[in-house]
This record gives sequence, C-alpha cells and structure tokens, in this order.
Amino acid sequence: MNAEKAAPRKSGRGKVELDERLKAYHGVWVFIEHERGSVHPVSWELLGEGRQLADKLGVSLCGVVLAAPGLRARHFCEEAFFHGADSCYLMEDPVLSSYRNQPFTKGLTDLVNAYQPEILLLGATTQGRDLAGSVATTLKTGLTADCTALNIDMENRSMAASRPTFGGSLLCTILTLNFRPQMATVRPRVMAMPDRDIARRGTIIEHPLGLIETDIVTKVLQYIADEQQDKPQLPFADIIVSGGRGLKNADNFQLVWDLALVLGAEVGASRPVVQAGWVELDRQVGQSGKTVRPKLYIAAGISGAVQHRVGMEGSDVIIAINTDPNAPIFDFATYGIVGNAMTVLPALTQAFQQQLATAKMAG
Ligand SMILES: Cc1cc2nc3c(=O)[nH]c(=O)nc-3n(C[C@H](O)[C@H](O)[C@H](O)COP(=O)(O)OP(=O)(O)OC[C@H]3O[C@@H](n4cnc5c(N)ncnc54)[C@H](O)[C@@H]3O)c2cc1C
Repeated sequence: MNAEKAAPRKSGRGKVELDERLKAYHGVWVFIEHERGSVHPVSWELLGEGRQLADKLGVSLCGVVLAAPGLRARHFCEEAFFHGADSCYLMEDPVLSSYRNQPFTKGLTDLVNAYQPEILLLGATTQGRDLAGSVATTLKTGLTADCTALNIDMENRSMAASRPTFGGSLLCTILTLNFRPQMATVRPRVMAMPDRDIARRGTIIEHPLGLIETDIVTKVLQYIADEQQDKPQLPFADIIVSGGRGLKNADNFQLVWDLALVLGAEVGASRPVVQAGWVELDRQVGQSGKTVRPKLYIAAGISGAVQHRVGMEGSDVIIAINTDPNAPIFDFATYGIVGNAMTVLPALTQAFQQQLATAKMAG
C-alpha cells in the first residue's frame, strides 16, 4: 500500500491530523548500505540518529539488509543490532550480490509496502542517492536529501528534516505530512557514530525478493576499483588542518601542509582556496565539499561562512586562527587565536615538533 490518496485533515485547532492510513505506518528504518563485503559507516551513523528518532516516537528501529545469500548478510544484521537496531529486515537473493538500481528498488519498495515504516533513512552516498530517489518516486512519497539534522515534530508525529537551502544561506526544515514513509538522506560524518554494544541482540525478519536475473535490464560485467580510493579521505581523518583565503597565496598555504605533516593530519581548505587552484577539489570542506568530523580541526584564515561551517561544525575541537576578532568562526570555535596565520602556523608547527621530540625521548 502507498499513501498516495491519503489527505491531511485539519482539526478545530488547525492542527493536521494524521489520516488513518498514515497511522498504519510504524517504526524507523535505516538502509544498511554495503559494497564488496563492507558496510558503509554512514549506515551505523544513521542507526545512531534513527535510535533517537525511534525513542522519541516510542517505536522500534530496524535495519534493512539486501544482499546475496550468505553469512555476510547475517553478520551485517548482527552489526546493525550492535549499533542500535531492534530488528533487521533481510532480503537475500543472488541478484542482490552487487548494487543495481532495479532489484534494490524493487526489494526496498516491496519491504516498505509489506511492513510500512513511517521513516526511512539512507546515506547520501552514490548508492544511497541513486536508490532513495527511485524508491521515493516509486512509492510516491517525500524525500529530503542531504539533511544536516533530523528531529521529530511531536505535534503531528512527523520527521522534521533540516537541510541548507538558497545556496546554503538559509536552513530549512521540511515535513512530509501527507505521505509515508518520510524519507531522508544524510551525508557521511554529519551524524555521530553511536557506541557499538556487542551485547545487543535483535530479530531478523526474512522476506523474499521474487525477481530473476533475466528480469533485470542491467548486468554487472566487471568490477573496476574506484580510482579515487587513494585520494584524500577527509571525512574519516582524526585531525585536519585547513586553510582559507586569509593565507593570501599558494606559497603561504605550504604552512598548512607543514603543520599537517607534523600532526599526521589531513589538509583541508575553504572553497576560494580550491577555486584559486592551491589545492585539489577533494580537500574542500563544506556544503559543496566534504563533511568532516575529526577530533581536531584547525582553521587558519577561514572566516567561518555558513557554507564552510556546515561541513566541519561536527568536529570535536575547533581551533580558529584569524586576524579579525569578529570573524564568524570565533562564534563556534572551541579555541580562538586572534593573529596572523603566517606567524601562528609556523609557531604551532615548531611547538608540536618540539613536544613530539620530547615525548619520543622520554619513552
Ligand atoms: C552554493 C555555495 C556553496 C558553497 N560551498 C562552500 C563550501 O563547500 N566550502 C566553503 O568553504 N565555502 C563554500 N562556499 C563559499 C562561502 O560562502 C565562503 O565564501 C567561503 O567559505 C569563504 O572562504 P574563506 O573563509 O577562506 O574566505 P574569506 O571569507 O575571504 O575569509 C578569509 C578570512 O581570513 C582572515 N584573514 C585575513 N588575513 C589573515 C591572516 N593573515 N591570518 C589569519 N586570518 C586572516 C579574514 O579575517 C577572513 O575572516 C559556498 C558558497 C555558495 C554560494
């Protein structure tokens, strides 16, 4: 069943009441994305977020695994329990051995129609974006892409999905009031990774796909490893030193590399730096770049515009270096250094170098 014909009703107080058919939808689901035997970490991050949504609604949290038959698929379900799921829907079929839009869309829409979750979350990855779009259009429901925050609007039991809009200058919150499930995608590292509790157990609910290879129009002929895999993995770095336009030129940007080398950190940048060609696009942090969540983020000569902020504000500790004491980055940095980055960066590099040398000598 889909909610295509369901219409909202207004009560006397103007509050939207959920149609009876929408009320039949229950529970929060997270699609467990995997490729070549590994689950994408965004799935665990979404289970952490999904747990909070499910608890607010007083419903269960379920993982959804679509995979080729085998021990691996069951292991993914087990991991989903460790990361907060109460149960896991498992669809096993040989045609699900590699991701293809057609069988995965059929599998996920069949499961939704059979078990009716009220919320369905997917990672805003290449696979998640491809699948979420076709599942939402097949089910004729609403999808909010690239969310930066998810919550529950308790007045009408709806998911409040927030995301940047108007070129990132505003944040909007979108509610899908008339259709179910409410779907959202979230980029990796936007949500925190939940603790892994190996004592948690759950129930596996199996469901058949009912599709054969000759029904599928696309074939996987060969797997070609992503050439990008050796490129910087900013989203998963523990320490990032980032530079902005305040560094003035590519030669000064070398100071960022110097500090990063000493700290064993990745190098990030704001968009003007990438546009000026001082570093490659893979290093851009922000709304149109990478979302990062390191333990330490050092921002030198970066103003803290909202489009940069959305990509790094989940960092545990932010140290900002800026000549302007009123720069927006000081509003959300953990520590602020008002000063010239061309002086502060080499001083930090030297201080850390000395500290590391002393620590090495001591033991
Ligand atoms: C649709 C859209 C998407 C965008 N996506 C992104 C994105 O993904 N990532 C991103 O970063 N931006 C993005 N932007 C651009 C964003 O709006 C800002 O323009 C950009 O983040 C500013 O970069 P910046 O802080 O390096 O430069 P500026 O805003 O020019 O700031 C430079 C800072 O350096 C300080 N400074 C100057 N000299 C020194 C010095 N010697 N030492 C220390 N500090 C100094 C200045 O006080 C200033 O605060 C996007 C914009 C749009 C419209």
